[in-house]
Amino acid sequence: MGQVICIANQKGGVGKTTTAVNLSAALAVANKKTLLVDCDPQGNATTGMGIDKSSLEQSLYHALIGMAESQDLVINTEIDTLCVLPAKMELIGAEIELIESDHRETALKKALAALVSDFDYLVLDCPPSLSLLTINAMTAATAMIVPVQCEFYAMEGLGQLFNTIRRIKGSLNPRLGIAGILLTMFDSRTNLSNQVADDVLGHFKDVVFKTRIPRNVRLGEAPSHGKPIVLYDKTSTGAASYLNLAKEVMAFG
Ligand code: ADP
Ligand code: MG
Repeated sequence: MGQVICIANQKGGVGKTTTAVNLSAALAVANKKTLLVDCDPQGNATTGMGIDKSSLEQSLYHALIGMAESQDLVINTEIDTLCVLPAKMELIGAEIELIESDHRETALKKALAALVSDFDYLVLDCPPSLSLLTINAMTAATAMIVPVQCEFYAMEGLGQLFNTIRRIKGSLNPRLGIAGILLTMFDSRTNLSNQVADDVLGHFKDVVFKTRIPRNVRLGEAPSHGKPIVLYDKTSTGAASYLNLAKEVMAFG
């Protein structure tokens, strides 16, 4: 059975999609069969992997509302061991349609059930909210990674996020664990980055990944080329940091 890792933080722009895409690719180049599942209607992870959303007839939306088998939605990539389950704007509709459903929080878990034995890792990229889609991702997950941007207000909202995790662990998904907090866009030259890193370590020291993702221009450029960083520029510090993160994740189990 594959590990299902949910990348969540209700703040936008903290590096969730960058982490989902590049951790997936790094696990795949370490020869782990990996499925990147785009759970955000914005479909940034889908585009970031070079998939043209307008060409897709079906996406995660169809699996969530029971109109498609999830296996039929999986797309292969340039990396043999990496596949993508894409999303596009229609996914917003699932939020509304699921509200009436008896399995509104478990629809994603059900949709992925047929895939978990085919992959070593499933990496779920969440939208920037604590919406039903994020709740579905947390319910389907075996572990969570919380990216925290090394900027002012970094810790804001983490209390609410951890309350949500606790609530889901207490009811829908007792096996949910925190794999870790990931410091992103770290710039060791700035006092602010160092201060945020110290604050986060002070509060959560046991659950912070040793790997810090640096602010790296190449990481910002890669999505516009539709490539994960290991394909776009494998010599960059961004690539090295995500390869290190993959090692930490693989050590976790
Ligand atoms: P989220 O999914 O949390 O909204 P993204 O991963 O889309 O955040 O990142 C927000 C923006 O910051 C994107 O333009 C992305 O390319 C850029 N970015 C993310 N991580 C880095 C990094 N480590 N270095 C440079 N740019 C980054
Ligand atoms: Mg995103």
